[in-house]
Amino acid sequence: MPSAQTELHYKDPFQLLVAVILSAQCTDKRVNMTTPALFQAYPDPQSMAQATPDDLFAYIHSISYPHNKSKHLAAMARTLVEQFGGNVPSDIDQLQQLPGVGRKTANVIASVVFNKPALAVDTHVFRVANRIGLTNNSKSPLQTERELVKHIPEDKLAIAHHWLILHGRYVCQARKPHCPQCGLTTLCKYFKSNESKCQQKQESLPQENKRTKSKDSKD
Ligand code: SF4
Repeated sequence: MPSAQTELHYKDPFQLLVAVILSAQCTDKRVNMTTPALFQAYPDPQSMAQATPDDLFAYIHSISYPHNKSKHLAAMARTLVEQFGGNVPSDIDQLQQLPGVGRKTANVIASVVFNKPALAVDTHVFRVANRIGLTNNSKSPLQTERELVKHIPEDKLAIAHHWLILHGRYVCQARKPHCPQCGLTTLCKYFKSNESKCQQKQESLPQENKRTKSKDSKD
């Protein structure tokens, strides 16, 4: 299991903002393959604000939704320069005024860059929280965020976000949760209600697999 921090590569708040925008519906690994050349050509908001969406498309065409993301990045950089003096704001509402930045991205920036007590809910956090029973059959990311924020101590929110994401990415995967390799079985609502099925799977595993954590790490 990797350490509990973002797996995106970045050097400053602007680069993290770009990387998080690019990571929507895309793996961190793919984003990390794309950003070095992009950041070399456009290292700051001022240079990216001069770029057209077509200029940016040339660098990000291999990731998901490159047309939309090119437009968002160009407009985001211009807005940063024109309205925020070229600085990434720390306020969640101001962050959401930037093109391409929704609540999840704003929460990531607020917590990772500015250490604010915010919890970003992506697909992994949403699924894992529901399965474990940290949320009560939540129907939306916002509902999940509100329930988790109520129950997780403020100083643990940032790391809880990474714990849940990494658990979802490496163990409690969407199509097939790896319950036999999971350390949370005694606490997990999903496991309790599917215990007999999960135990049958565990018994059918070869001995070596029972000791080895899952390594398939698709996003
Ligand atoms: S026991 Fe299974 S469902 Fe529950 S958190 Fe672990 S992997 Fe996910």
